[in-house]
Amino acid sequence: AKALGRNRYCYFSDELQSEVDQRFLIERLLKRAIEEQTLEVFFQPKHNLITGKLVGAEGLVRLRDENNRIIPPDAFIPLAEETGLIHALGEQVLHQCCSAARRWLLQGTPVKVGANIAALQFSNDQFYLNIKQALHTHQLPAQWLELELTESALMHNFDETRGILQKLSDIGVSISLDDFGTGYSSLSYLRFFPLDVLKVDRSFIKDMLDDPQAKNIVNAIIHLAHSLNLQLVAEGIETKAQLESLRNLGCQEGQGYFYSKPLPLQEFEARYLLIQPV
Ligand code: C2E
Ligand code: CA
Ligand code: CA
Ligand code: CA
Repeated sequence: AKALGRNRYCYFSDELQSEVDQRFLIERLLKRAIEEQTLEVFFQPKHNLITGKLVGAEGLVRLRDENNRIIPPDAFIPLAEETGLIHALGEQVLHQCCSAARRWLLQGTPVKVGANIAALQFSNDQFYLNIKQALHTHQLPAQWLELELTESALMHNFDETRGILQKLSDIGVSISLDDFGTGYSSLSYLRFFPLDVLKVDRSFIKDMLDDPQAKNIVNAIIHLAHSLNLQLVAEGIETKAQLESLRNLGCQEGQGYFYSKPLPLQEFEARYLLIQPV
């Protein structure tokens, strides 16, 4: 039996084995970061594409390894969802977003902050109360908080999700539909959920100058947003040419490396706000 057990390992390639190791390592780092509250949130500016003015910021979580290197969220968010750590992670990110928004508000340069919410966070009935509690703890008026959700997050418990979003919307929190145009886009979502913002997925922006179809889709989404009275944000603007094309199509707001990568809190403040760093 032992030999068989040992032989079994032959089915795993080295590559697969190192993937398993990697997973354990990341899980350990994530658990520790949550316990020690050392997860970081970086902020990426959102701009008005016409005036260039700052109109908001998106909070994006960051984890570091032992060598202080950043592990990107794509490498640990799915794992956080599988292990249930996403609840604690989401809570800490939410608090950091509210805390930053409160600071900026007090300093006289209010910035609406968008926090990314994973599908699983809705499975917690506490979700609405957590948001309310975070706003209360940080004395942040709800209008300065936005929640970014993907369509896959909305697909779970349709009615319950709508109920929660409606309550959040009623108290003044903005609801944003992330990565719009990818996944199982269903236009019925746009009527069913109390949405405020559509974020056009980066993939369309990336291709729009070379691929007329991508550009046509962006154009259609812009018209759709206008006619439904939804705010529109283009994601992943990397070049001046993309920016100009979006402007010509009538897109008002966007974010992307052309303006800035996501920045640590202090760098964001140094660059965008007329206040002293922490
Ligand atoms: P997302 O919500 O679609 O966030 C946008 C991602 O695009 C970010 O990657 C951002 O750094 C990147 N990005 C922004 N501008 C550009 C650009 O011009 N070019 C390119 N190539 N990329 C750009 P990031 O920070 O690695 O996050 C990846 C994903 O991880 C996010 O996608 C989001 O789905 C998830 N995520 C990040 N933070 C959180 C969090 O706190 N909670 C949850 N649940 N998910 C998060
Ligand atoms: Ca997002
Ligand atoms: Ca997105
Ligand atoms: Ca995404």
